[in-house]
Amino acid sequence: ENKVLEVENLRTSFISNKKTFNAVDGVSFHINEGETIGVVGESGCGKSVTSLSIMGLIKRPGEVNADKISFQDNNLLKLNKEKMRKIRGNRISMIFQEPMTSLNPVYRVGEQIAESIRIHEKVRSSKLKNRVIDLLEMVGIPRPKEVYRYYPHQLSGGMRQRVMIAIAMACNPDLLIADEPTTALDVTIQAQILELMKELQESRGMSMMLITHDLGVVSEVCDRVVVMYAGKIVETGKVENILNHPQHPYTKGLIASLPKKGQNNGRLNYIPGQVPSPLNWGKGCRFADRCTYVMDKCLEKIPPLLDVSSEQQSACWLCEEKGGSSFANERGKV
Ligand code: SF4
Ligand code: MG
Repeated sequence: ENKVLEVENLRTSFISNKKTFNAVDGVSFHINEGETIGVVGESGCGKSVTSLSIMGLIKRPGEVNADKISFQDNNLLKLNKEKMRKIRGNRISMIFQEPMTSLNPVYRVGEQIAESIRIHEKVRSSKLKNRVIDLLEMVGIPRPKEVYRYYPHQLSGGMRQRVMIAIAMACNPDLLIADEPTTALDVTIQAQILELMKELQESRGMSMMLITHDLGVVSEVCDRVVVMYAGKIVETGKVENILNHPQHPYTKGLIASLPKKGQNNGRLNYIPGQVPSPLNWGKGCRFADRCTYVMDKCLEKIPPLLDVSSEQQSACWLCEEKGGSSFANERGKV
């Protein structure tokens, strides 16, 4: 399979009170052509920093180091700003959680989509408007000719996110990075937007990196999952393996805290405790103070990603102890 994106040993550092710390601390993964991967974890685990690092959007004094970040035939670590800008919004697009902040309130939505095409392509203005209207139609916006003339505040949150998706799709990207694209929306709209993204991904054959704190979202659209905790990947594998046979106690906790069907939305089973700050990482497993399985070894040494099977890896000492396969198949039990 062809890899669209390859990331090896990504470390992104920031400075706080004269101390340098890695918010992302040695992350490696890849995305195949036409594949959707989910990057999951609570906020503060390094998911957004990972995507911003790939896109060259970390501001100084933040610093991105990696053994490799390659996109198609480009080494993204070596590209200058100009070349990076050409890739961004063209071959790689991004959408974010809050569409209102990404849209300019004083311009009509049609003009904003047109502008995003014009940045990357020479298109005659007579053709441009039709292309925008086609895009609005493609993302399921009713009465596109009328909506072309709307200002962002005249649209609902769900419709604004559809406009953002239209902008992201305007130049036919090969990779779409979506950071919590449905988190600000209510549940029914969430499902519709996810459905739209899935349709576009399939019909265009593009690759997608979906960042979310919600494993439920991942189960709807992703092929593979990367679970992040405190700057590291703690588990990765195919979505069905991760959901049905989670090995890492953190993944199990995330699954247990999903609302069950037919149950009220209350999170009955959340994971007690908090993600530790990068300034307080010790030498052992960073999940140790929230883990009910913690052993002496866990406090001494950080577990590397261990093979659970040929298709699943987990960074937990229990996987080593149990030879990898028999550990806890009970769905979502922490
Ligand atoms: Fe828990 Fe130890 Fe596994 Fe960390 S390594 S998740 S503390 S059992
Ligand atoms: Mg985030």
